Amino acid sequence: MRSKPSILRLILGDQLNLKHSWFKLPNDDVVYVLMEVRQETDYTLHHIQKVAAFFAAMRSFADRLKELGHRVIYLHLDAPDNRQALAENIQYLIEQHAFSQFEYILPDEFRLDAQLRALAQTLPIKCHPVDSEHFSTERQDLADFFQGKKRYLMESFYRWMRKRHDILMDHGKPVGGKWNFDQKNRQTYDHKVPIPAPILFENDVSEIVDCIQKKGVKTLGEIQAHRLIWPVTRDQALELLDRFVTDVLPAFGTYQDAMLSTNWYLFHSRLSFALNSKMLDPLEVIQAAVKAWQAQNPPVAIQQIEGFVRQVLGWREYMRGIYWTLMPKLESSNYFSHTGDLPSFYWTGTTDMTCMQKTITQSLQYAYAHHIQRLMVTGNFALLAGIDPQAVDDWYLGIYIDAIQWVELPNTRAMSQFADGGQVATKPYVSSARYINAMSDYCKSCNYDWKKRYGTGSCPFNSLYWDFFNRHRELLQKNARIGMMYRTWDRMDSNQRKDILRQAHAYRNNLNTL
Ligand SMILES: Cc1cc2nc3c(=O)[nH]c(=O)nc-3n(C[C@H](O)[C@H](O)[C@H](O)COP(=O)(O)OP(=O)(O)OC[C@H]3O[C@@H](n4cnc5c(N)ncnc54)[C@H](O)[C@@H]3O)c2cc1C
Ligand code: SF4
Repeated sequence: MRSKPSILRLILGDQLNLKHSWFKLPNDDVVYVLMEVRQETDYTLHHIQKVAAFFAAMRSFADRLKELGHRVIYLHLDAPDNRQALAENIQYLIEQHAFSQFEYILPDEFRLDAQLRALAQTLPIKCHPVDSEHFSTERQDLADFFQGKKRYLMESFYRWMRKRHDILMDHGKPVGGKWNFDQKNRQTYDHKVPIPAPILFENDVSEIVDCIQKKGVKTLGEIQAHRLIWPVTRDQALELLDRFVTDVLPAFGTYQDAMLSTNWYLFHSRLSFALNSKMLDPLEVIQAAVKAWQAQNPPVAIQQIEGFVRQVLGWREYMRGIYWTLMPKLESSNYFSHTGDLPSFYWTGTTDMTCMQKTITQSLQYAYAHHIQRLMVTGNFALLAGIDPQAVDDWYLGIYIDAIQWVELPNTRAMSQFADGGQVATKPYVSSARYINAMSDYCKSCNYDWKKRYGTGSCPFNSLYWDFFNRHRELLQKNARIGMMYRTWDRMDSNQRKDILRQAHAYRNNLNTL
């Protein structure tokens, strides 16, 4: 007979960290609880693959804990005693089992952090939060690092992280003589390096999908319920990592910004879900990549490994720090006072703009788009078109497999929509068709002409681009990195300027028809 446990420990769906010190040894005094709740399925409209992948990963995590001898309560979405909210379930379990202590891992989301802190204050028993043991920085590290500064330059934070963790360092200097090889990492895909076949898992999540549908949870996007492609166990996540470092890393940096109409992943790792659910530890991911670079079998050039380290040790930790520094203000920031509705094609992919059609369609199909598609296609368009950043946020938070607010919000609001007024990005990430044409083959098969600024068939990105700068002149012209743009605009023939603005207004008034 096992003794009666006295401690209840909560594990959230994105806290599947098997390496956490909680799980070192089984302890009969402790019960872990994982729960599938409407509170989490309904706080935004999620992609069906995202909900199914989180539930499948939580279920296999719970099974693994049981195999290791831990005591686990798992509340399925359709369990009769599921109160469908974290606080209510915890209160109910405490009453039922007479626990004398409640412990939880600090959540990464502001919303859940506030909720659990409030709950802890009302519970009649001892409550104790612990660290997630996942990140390489504490919540407040970034704010401390940039204290007194107006802008939070990722590059200086990244260099500090490299030194602090001694990654790609040689006697205090960056390996290769430079901190950043970004210049070499902006190539268009030239078909010289074959794109490695991806690992696509075939996880059968049909039971989970049935349950989600029976419970009436509203979702977006498509799923092949018998063949969910995303990793849902640590073993699968490690397999994905292993395949990345051997097959993909050798060309990761070079084609990082490239886009291709016939391929949705190119040389990207697709590790974000495994990382954000914490099945993988970011330092173990970095170390695996560094080890492959050291072994040089196959050869990995410095710009490839540096590019990857910058994403995980730099951007990922930086975004987390930005989130905790700028929240809760960030959530409602709207520097340009944009109020437009998100065009309907964001939900269907039905548009004549090939770049948007390809990016949105693959997002609906795989719950995935890579960084440049998110930033320079869908994000770029939303900013140029003047869409309310709240609607843009909701879309990004729902559609991607890796979307959790701590990482989605700073990327969307701050980096992509410049809604924070430039604390993160030094200038808005906007471009005309020129950039999309240079970095992809999208324009070749598009109904619009990437070279035309106005008139029949002119690419919407072109007129909207100039219209954006014209509309926001007061807010932007003092920015030293943008001054050149205004000089070019002012030098343009006034009739041409009028034609461009007229075209932009026509497009902005009819976004749904583009
Ligand atoms: C508008 C917008 C919204 C985004 N929303 C999310 C989100 O909800 N969740 C999310 O994880 N990422 C988000 N990103 C960042 C980035 O696009 C994804 O991390 C990346 O596309 C995931 O695919 P991958 O694993 O193949 O990445 P790779 O290109 O292989 O990069 C490797 C890893 O680096 C990390 N990384 C790279 N860039 C960033 C970044 N800017 N911020 C944080 N981590 C980064 C990720 O963990 C990623 O798995 C967003 C970017 C933009 C522009
Ligand atoms: S022409 Fe314009 S709309 Fe078409 S793919 Fe190129 S950038 Fe996109």
